[in-house]
Amino acid sequence: MTIIRVALAVPVDSLFDYRADRAGPGDIGQRVLVPFGKTSAVGVIMDVTSASTVPEHKLRHVLRVLRDAPRLSREDLRLLEFAADYYRYPLGRAVMETLPARLRRTKDSPARKQTGGYLLTVAGAALTPADLPVRASIQHRLLERLRRGALDSAEARRLSRHERGVLKRFLDRGWIEWRQAVTSPRSAALAEPPATPALNSEQTAAVDAIRSGLGAYRPFLLLGVTGSGKTEVYLHAIAAALAQGQQALLLVPEIALTPQLETLVARRFPGARIVSLHSGLTETERLAHWLATANGQARIILGTRLAVFAPLPDLGLIVVDEEQDGSFKQSDGFRYSARDLAVARARQRNIPVVLGTATPAFETYHNAVTSRYTMLRLTQRIGAPPPRIDCVDTRNQKLADGLSSELLAALRQRMEAGDQSLVFINRRGYAPVLMCRHCGWISGCHRCSAQLVLHLRERELRCHHCGHVAPAPAGCPGCGNADLSPVGQGTQRVEEALARQFPSARILRIDRDTTSRRLAWPAMRGRIERREVDILVGTQILAKGHDFPHLNLVGVLNADSRLYSNDFRAAEHLYALLTQVAGRAGRGGARGQVLIQTEFPHHPLYTALVRQDFQAFAESALAERQQAGFPPFVHQALLRAEAPRLATALEFLDEAARNARSLDAQIALYDPVPAAMPRRAGRERAQLLVQSASRPRLRDFLSAWHGALSAIRATRARWSLDVDPIDF
Ligand SMILES: [Zn+2]
Ligand SMILES: [Zn+2]
Repeated sequence: MTIIRVALAVPVDSLFDYRADRAGPGDIGQRVLVPFGKTSAVGVIMDVTSASTVPEHKLRHVLRVLRDAPRLSREDLRLLEFAADYYRYPLGRAVMETLPARLRRTKDSPARKQTGGYLLTVAGAALTPADLPVRASIQHRLLERLRRGALDSAEARRLSRHERGVLKRFLDRGWIEWRQAVTSPRSAALAEPPATPALNSEQTAAVDAIRSGLGAYRPFLLLGVTGSGKTEVYLHAIAAALAQGQQALLLVPEIALTPQLETLVARRFPGARIVSLHSGLTETERLAHWLATANGQARIILGTRLAVFAPLPDLGLIVVDEEQDGSFKQSDGFRYSARDLAVARARQRNIPVVLGTATPAFETYHNAVTSRYTMLRLTQRIGAPPPRIDCVDTRNQKLADGLSSELLAALRQRMEAGDQSLVFINRRGYAPVLMCRHCGWISGCHRCSAQLVLHLRERELRCHHCGHVAPAPAGCPGCGNADLSPVGQGTQRVEEALARQFPSARILRIDRDTTSRRLAWPAMRGRIERREVDILVGTQILAKGHDFPHLNLVGVLNADSRLYSNDFRAAEHLYALLTQVAGRAGRGGARGQVLIQTEFPHHPLYTALVRQDFQAFAESALAERQQAGFPPFVHQALLRAEAPRLATALEFLDEAARNARSLDAQIALYDPVPAAMPRRAGRERAQLLVQSASRPRLRDFLSAWHGALSAIRATRARWSLDVDPIDF
């Protein structure tokens, strides 16, 4: 009797046994249609055996083995098994969720034609549920779905009968666009391959090291300052892998950055088929690209997080660009880290992996200084000297609308020289809170533990977490005082202040509020490039990847607010963000200038930033982490629970903690506590942190604990485990 063990997209840890008399070991990794309950389901064959723990008369027969697409290799399955086990996620779900949607459905053959789909625009991708009216459930459902990838009309109709009106509204606002499916390979063969830029000695050394590492597991940290030509190193390493008949996988954090890179890669490798894998593809495109990847036609695969699971028969090299970026970690459901899985995959396949960045995650940096990874350094910026970074001490001066005299003078100078400037503040709206100085009332959200942000132009108070919107009150709801004060600064207020200071300046504000109109961002970009803008005011939307050749001054406001946070990674993230923002200055050849307004000019983070000395910053911060017993010196997992009442969530965590103690007394347990933001959209959230210096010990413990938690029935709390959490 032949039994197949099948992974199905259901929330249990086990596989399902079926009789399949005509299946053989060659079908492992193949999709299969099986009866499931009263219906049928598509799954993946994980194993073929001759015995089952299910009694013979209860075993059901498979309906059909689906041989219309390449099967997953044993290595692909091993990676999925490892990931599901490591991140405590049901294996069947992990396997099925990483397949293209068209391969998961029972009534959908891969051959079916589709013409295109709706895609989020850059503005749409920046939206959060908080930007939609709380009660607009169809809008929320469609946005959530669109965030996972392109949506065709048929699927939209399945989601809601009223989808048309909503999609039209999204189109009108410029949040989505319709795109025809493109399933043929990118044809770049006609374009002249550009001359390959000459490498400097550091780049040459890096390329040589990676090239000589091909064919064996070797992780590299490519630590290169902003503008030092990391991409050129990737391209040369990819060329070396291709020359050996291998496929190369290049992972990037943001889908918005892929078109530019895709064009560059396609022009450099006119003979190789390149495909992208990210959530901006239609289902048809995603399937076509996945198939090309799986059957080996595609030689270079450019993708975001999910592409780490793409089946790649000839995989020879993995590159992870901006490896520290938080978007490599999925923040719900299957909470995997694509960066960490890239390393695990390289180890399984015995190939090199290159992690590139100017500001590595401390985990990565620690692995490099302890020689687990090979460090490759690029210290020279190509084409321009590094920007000059200075702190402006704001303690002893009266700021004009939050702007220091030094920053104002520098802005004036740049304007006179015809240069562009950027004033960076990571908060949109006018002021983060509205307050009554008479009775102490402040504008809080009734559904979240957060303040409502004043948006003065719209005369509204908005919650940036749950989307609640209320008209700004004319007087204090507490005491009637008519004189309410906006406290603190947001982009709108800075824009207004700059307009007062520089009446003739052409000022452009770029944040989620201004880019959410149709075609807003390409138009804004054009204005900046045509030098129709003198001063940009922006949030971190602007920090990543965009090059503006005429931008030579960056002013940073209000960075201090992130300096003293209870998240132990706050400083690490702030350093990376400020390095990226500072890197915007002086991309066009002239030396850029960066001014950071702060009340703590002697804080080690700022002194390291001024010297642009990541190493000094990382080493002092790592010494502190070692003392305090934080990652990377320990390994952590976070049990999150949420419920309508905080007490319910905490009770569940108390029980989980008792359970944990009885399983392994050596595992360090923190007390269950409310989350940093305990109330969000009307649900109360709490968490319990566990850690151990030994990763294998933590893994064993989590496996047992997960089983014990799943057995707790009498609770109204929803819970999930987050292994190697990055935000708390
Ligand atoms: Zn009042
Ligand atoms: Zn709220």
